[in-house]
Amino acid sequence: DEARAADLLQGLNPQQEEAVKHGGSPLLIVAGAGSGKTRVLSHRIAYLMATGRSNPGQILAITFTNKAAAEMRERIEALVGGVAKTMWISTFHSSCVRILRREAKSVGMNSNFSIYDSADSLRLITLVAKGLDLDPKRFTPKMIMHKISALKNELIDDETFAATANLSDPFEQAVADVYRGYTERMRSANAMDFDDLIAQTVYMFRAFPGVAEYYRRRFRHILVDEYQDTNHAQYALVRELVGVPGEGNTLDIPPAELTVVGDSDQSIYAFRGADVRNINDFEKDYPAARTILLEQNYRSTQTILNAANAVISRNPNRPEKRLWTAEGSGEKIIGYVGENEHDEARFIAEEIDRLQDEENLRPGDVAVFYRTNAQSRSLEDVLVRVGLPYKVVGGTRFYERKEIKDALAYLRVLVNADDVVNLRRILNEPKRGIGDRAEYSVAALAERERISFMAALRRAEEAPGLATRSLNAVNGFVKLIDDLAEVAAGSGASAALEAVLEQTGYLAQLRSSNDPQDESRVENLAELVAVVREYEKDNPEGSLGEFLEQVSLVADADSIPDAPEGSAEEVAAAVEESRQQGVVTLMTLHTAKGLEFPVVFLTGLEQGLFPHQRSATDPAELAEERRLAYVGLTRARKRLYITRSEVRSMWGQSQYNPASQFVGEIPQELIQWKREGMDRPTWGGSTSAGSSRYGGSHWGAGSGTGSGMGAGGNISAAPVAKAIGRVQPQKEVISVGVGDKVNHTSFGHGTVLAVEGTGDKTVAKVKFDVGEKRLLLRYAPLTKE
Ligand code: ATP
Ligand code: MG
Repeated sequence: DEARAADLLQGLNPQQEEAVKHGGSPLLIVAGAGSGKTRVLSHRIAYLMATGRSNPGQILAITFTNKAAAEMRERIEALVGGVAKTMWISTFHSSCVRILRREAKSVGMNSNFSIYDSADSLRLITLVAKGLDLDPKRFTPKMIMHKISALKNELIDDETFAATANLSDPFEQAVADVYRGYTERMRSANAMDFDDLIAQTVYMFRAFPGVAEYYRRRFRHILVDEYQDTNHAQYALVRELVGVPGEGNTLDIPPAELTVVGDSDQSIYAFRGADVRNINDFEKDYPAARTILLEQNYRSTQTILNAANAVISRNPNRPEKRLWTAEGSGEKIIGYVGENEHDEARFIAEEIDRLQDEENLRPGDVAVFYRTNAQSRSLEDVLVRVGLPYKVVGGTRFYERKEIKDALAYLRVLVNADDVVNLRRILNEPKRGIGDRAEYSVAALAERERISFMAALRRAEEAPGLATRSLNAVNGFVKLIDDLAEVAAGSGASAALEAVLEQTGYLAQLRSSNDPQDESRVENLAELVAVVREYEKDNPEGSLGEFLEQVSLVADADSIPDAPEGSAEEVAAAVEESRQQGVVTLMTLHTAKGLEFPVVFLTGLEQGLFPHQRSATDPAELAEERRLAYVGLTRARKRLYITRSEVRSMWGQSQYNPASQFVGEIPQELIQWKREGMDRPTWGGSTSAGSSRYGGSHWGAGSGTGSGMGAGGNISAAPVAKAIGRVQPQKEVISVGVGDKVNHTSFGHGTVLAVEGTGDKTVAKVKFDVGEKRLLLRYAPLTKE
């Protein structure tokens, strides 16, 4: 093991080596982008194990996104082998879910709690606000939700807020009331939102010292990547786990060894409560701490670093640091100004093609970044047309589609019947004659008898003023749920999902519709079936509950507010996490944190878009946008492109956008322009009135489209399926055999690799250019060639 330990130090520079070997006190590693922070963390973990200072079970490594966690696990696995699979290497949220589920019983909670995403929360907050007769125009549910989220991130619970808020301020009064109601409803629904996962874990540790003690004994080494983006609740969680002496830590063992790494220039999550003070105050918070600086960059060329240094140095109040590399200056940055977003996308596709032909680069070496998700559409259009394979990372949108949320709502109710938000979502979906009045009558019964909504449904004959017809419908619904619950308990997750789709009449309703949108809904549901099957294949032991949990978490940290709809294919690809080789990666700048690519296109560098319009009047916002630019620029290893378009259509209108000021902040001799626009880059933050339509409204958490709000979102155009479980699939299942050539409307040409099952349940495994897919033939838009 000594030899292995020595191996782990090979190739590290002296500061990195020190950081890997350090012991005996908290350690802060601060450094610019690409200087090996994450690499040091991985090597440090392997080194702790190789030297016998720690066994794998004593290590807790926390990263910011699921993707980053997967990457770190890979890096560690490469160093230490398969044991990495069992280690706690995860996001804050995943770690907390794991702890909460494990401890729920001992602290008097239910361990099968649901996890509400922001759309679920918004529904519930809307309900509560309505119940309080608040004017939704004056204080929108979204505003209230943001405030509640911010409070939770500050570990201020509803009672504390009510006691300290300025109640003569109408907004604070409204928030206090909604916060209380929301908290009560969440509790009785046995549900947690994302912010709760962290906050409740902290509260639990504080209220139950025995539980905290268990984890303090267990985790002797805690390592946190991207520490600059932690919020207060996450900061407190780390502190609880470390067990700082004198803070309720009565243990006979010393505090855990804490290692945090970060770069305050890369703090880009202030809108989620991230607080750079956590990193800036580290030495104060942990007085014995040692700080190590890394300065040499191993990722990028000097040209790229000079550009990044020049941009970030415009931010006020930051300690000057300059990234340098031994790699040499490399190629110039290439600039391009498209006439419009299609021209910009076309240039990108052509360049990728050229790089393939002339420089032997593969599409998999290329990443294309954008500021807002809405920009991916035009890029995708071109990539599809020219046949360049790509994937969009951050595929939450799939899970925010109505039909997907409906299907998942059924599954959630089967796992947790107290989940009132999801229960009410599906109560009359598809329509089965349980109208608003019936729903409120049952809700009234639940309130009067202080029982759950599900329990009230079971006693619907006692509901005040419930018509006989509604009563029958309710009884039918209860029977349906019981039947489905039986399927769910007896067979796997995919069987449960298929039973839901068939027996509720949900699919039948979509199939009998003439609305073309409903056709793609059927396709999306088929993809969901494929996703569940994939999950079952990868997790033979996995339960329906665990599947739902994974879905909830995928939709969490890797997702960015304001995501537009991505196609089911992209998302299926992202969810598969199969890391198909050789495809161009499309993602937002926020998602790109911590990653690196040989070739990077930074697109949409337009004033009002990036930097975002909101930053025009707010210097703090502008500084955050600039950090985002710094993150984007420093992802590139060999080649960097900066592009924009002169005219861009947004919200159905053509916008003229001047160049981003960030383009002007890059020394122009570093850039070789392939096409220059009419105007010169803007210097010093002036903005054009023309871009003023980029308001703050599409930037909040959640969809921004209001989907998922309102009264159950019934499909009005679709004929109503009257009976449950009576309808047959309308599509003929095509018959295919191994080796057949087929054509899929989205994936294109493919070859059948295998066929499983029979009749309605036939699944074909097909190899497409974009990778292998499992398709449920009954739903798949597939033809034989
Ligand atoms: P970011 O701030 O973007 O998260 P980082 O500081 O975490 O960056 P890493 O991702 O760990 O940086 O490292 C950047 C690249 O440099 C990686 O490809 C890594 O393997 C490489 N690298 C780091 N240190 C060394 C080294 N001593 N020798 C060779 N390559 C190195
Ligand atoms: Mg990193």
